[in-house]
Amino acid sequence: MSEAARSRLIPEVDFDADGKQTGYVRLFHSVHASAYGFIPIPIVVIKNGAGPTALFVSGNHGDEYEGQVALANLAKSLDPATIKGRVIILPMANFPAAMAGRRTSPIDEGNLNRSFPGHPDGTVTQQIAYFIEHVLIPKADVVCDLHSGGSSLMYVPCALIKRAADAGRHAQQAALLTAFGAPLAYISGGGNGTGTDSTLMGGAERAGKLAVGTELGGSGQVTPAALRIVERGLRNVLVHMGILAEDMRIAGEATRFLEVGGPDYFVYAPDSGVFEPAVELGEMVQKGQLAGRIHFPETPWAPAVAFHFGHAGFVLCKRVPGRAMRGDCLFHLGTDVHAQL
Ligand code: CA
Repeated sequence: MSEAARSRLIPEVDFDADGKQTGYVRLFHSVHASAYGFIPIPIVVIKNGAGPTALFVSGNHGDEYEGQVALANLAKSLDPATIKGRVIILPMANFPAAMAGRRTSPIDEGNLNRSFPGHPDGTVTQQIAYFIEHVLIPKADVVCDLHSGGSSLMYVPCALIKRAADAGRHAQQAALLTAFGAPLAYISGGGNGTGTDSTLMGGAERAGKLAVGTELGGSGQVTPAALRIVERGLRNVLVHMGILAEDMRIAGEATRFLEVGGPDYFVYAPDSGVFEPAVELGEMVQKGQLAGRIHFPETPWAPAVAFHFGHAGFVLCKRVPGRAMRGDCLFHLGTDVHAQL
């Protein structure tokens, strides 16, 4: 049996038919309230003849809404007659998490973006990861996974790629990131640890597919500024791949490119209490500069714990909720890329 055939998920759409098809990917899930029912994961396939395939995903984390709005808009507005090739839209990839407005699934607590390559017979979240890795990604030439900071983080809206060890792949990825046309973009160092990359972008890389992501803001909200950036970026990716004609490109401002390096780019809460940030998103900071303090209002006479940036750079991401636990990520930085990408 092929790897794709081992997936238990059943798409209602025909990936090879021309036109716009809408429906659900059925994930059968037998529970007390629904013995023979399925979880309906929405999917849209827009196809016109032969050509490249773009796979656009959001709702990988269910509390990240900017991509879900952008893909809902795209599903309605993209006319099959204007494209050459195929666009597959999966706006609520971790459907149970997205319906609950949570990062992780209320069914199995699964974090979809830590579940790749998934398992065909695993938990609900593992089955979704397996379907994306072994059924959808193999059909794609380019993959866009639309994230934001979710409930607990806020980003300066940006696009991103993962640094590739192979120079040829890296050049193609950098060209894709440039084509996206976000005002801010970053290159990530490639996650924690050296094991299997358990993210969707990791799955795209394993399959040798081009892959661009976003961090569109966060705080569990949608902003017009983030939508402008992502909707322009998706359009420009389709032009870059030759799925949309060149005259459909939307010119943006020049992109500022950052790099997110090792552990010293991240600031974590040194204690549990109330987080007082000392800087704002978008500020440039110096190594050793005060990043914030943790307060203990339950013992207001106890001294607050100050903490500092371990690296100079641009404040790209900041924690949203006021209460923080020891170990929570409070900030992460990026540094300007001055050399060729
Ligand atoms: Ca995310």
